[in-house]
Amino acid sequence: MPPSILVVGGGIIGCATAYELAKAGCRVTVLERNTPGGEASGAAAGLLAPLGESREPGPFQTLAVESWRLYPKVVEELEAVTGMNVQYVTAGTVYPLLGGPEIEAARERMTWPLARELGVEVLEGARLREREPALADDIPAALFVQGDHWVNNERLVAAYAQAAAGRGVVIRSGVEVSEILVEAGRVRGVVAGGARLEADAVLLAAGAWSGQLMVSRRGTSRGERLPVEPVRGQILCVSNSPPLLGHAVHGRSVYLVPRPSGELLVGATVEHVGFAREVTDEAIERLIDEAVSLVPGIGARALLSSWCGFRPWAPDSLPILGPWPGVDGLFVATAHFRNGILLAPITAHLVGQCVLAGRAPALLGPFLPDRFFPATP
Ligand SMILES: Cc1cc2nc3c(=O)[nH]c(=O)nc-3n(C[C@H](O)[C@H](O)[C@H](O)COP(=O)(O)OP(=O)(O)OC[C@H]3O[C@@H](n4cnc5c(N)ncnc54)[C@H](O)[C@@H]3O)c2cc1C
Repeated sequence: MPPSILVVGGGIIGCATAYELAKAGCRVTVLERNTPGGEASGAAAGLLAPLGESREPGPFQTLAVESWRLYPKVVEELEAVTGMNVQYVTAGTVYPLLGGPEIEAARERMTWPLARELGVEVLEGARLREREPALADDIPAALFVQGDHWVNNERLVAAYAQAAAGRGVVIRSGVEVSEILVEAGRVRGVVAGGARLEADAVLLAAGAWSGQLMVSRRGTSRGERLPVEPVRGQILCVSNSPPLLGHAVHGRSVYLVPRPSGELLVGATVEHVGFAREVTDEAIERLIDEAVSLVPGIGARALLSSWCGFRPWAPDSLPILGPWPGVDGLFVATAHFRNGILLAPITAHLVGQCVLAGRAPALLGPFLPDRFFPATP
């Protein structure tokens, strides 16, 4: 009998991993308290930029680049299976550079082994204006990353969910998990909607809410939670019709993403304000001011909409991926913070392998949950 797996949370991480596990033959049920993609995964900007957050080599960058490499094939597969268009674009991102030292550091990056694969260039003066005429005149130079992709993340989660359902995954919307059942150091299932649901394994992928569920490890009587907290992101959308920008632009505190739909996303704030589900006038004004300083033409564009979402964040800002120490059969995939859309394919692949094999692949080493828990006495 193939193993049964309950996935708590139907965001991009839960849906993508459910799809991978179902492809490997598992019997998977996703338990989602609202609707799949209704939280951070639907609120995101969909920028898939492995150098966006971390331009320094290290385990996070390795994970990000591995996921970026998987994207073309993932998109091709999901579009073929579902018939959906996820508005996947590879047109490159402009990272403005503000002065001599930044330009020097960027030139050095051109010698990186990854530079050729990602299509990294330093553009200055007329060459920069030719590439992206809408940029402000006082931006002297930019790092241009030709290989950055972006995607319509709402459609992508829907495509993952539809593809998963096509593989037999049961997606139960409107079902809230209130407890993870652990007996004698082994996960037995969950309590959802007041009912006990049993399974061979449970994957906790509840995004910013992952820290709300308590788990008791073997050898400890107290319950423990993941140290995951919400970080609010407010984001807005102006018209990009007629087209103002042909590339994404990633400034210091704001990024701009032109979608094929004619929308231009301007994101996003990074706020530790708990689960305050609110878009504020101050944040919208600041985002617009910063966007205008990069691309003055945005000042004349109509504001179409604004919204917010809660990124799942861990205190070291890194994802938490792998087995829960001391509880057989319980796994975690959360805390993707600002990069959950980018990291979804590699998370699904590696966490899927981990659930199937019962141990973590080497790439997950720096992201294991046990970094937050002292050893079991
Ligand atoms: C404004 C903004 C812009 C962003 N831009 C980007 C970007 O450009 N690129 C990028 O890569 N990332 C971006 N991100 C980050 C990305 O959105 C997140 O890292 C990612 O969506 C996290 O996915 P998730 O599945 O873990 O969480 P979520 O999408 O939040 O999904 C978790 C799900 O779990 C459900 N749930 C919670 N508790 C329970 C429970 N007890 N029982 C049942 N269900 C439960 C929730 O309802 C939710 O649907 C952005 C985020 C924001 C907010």
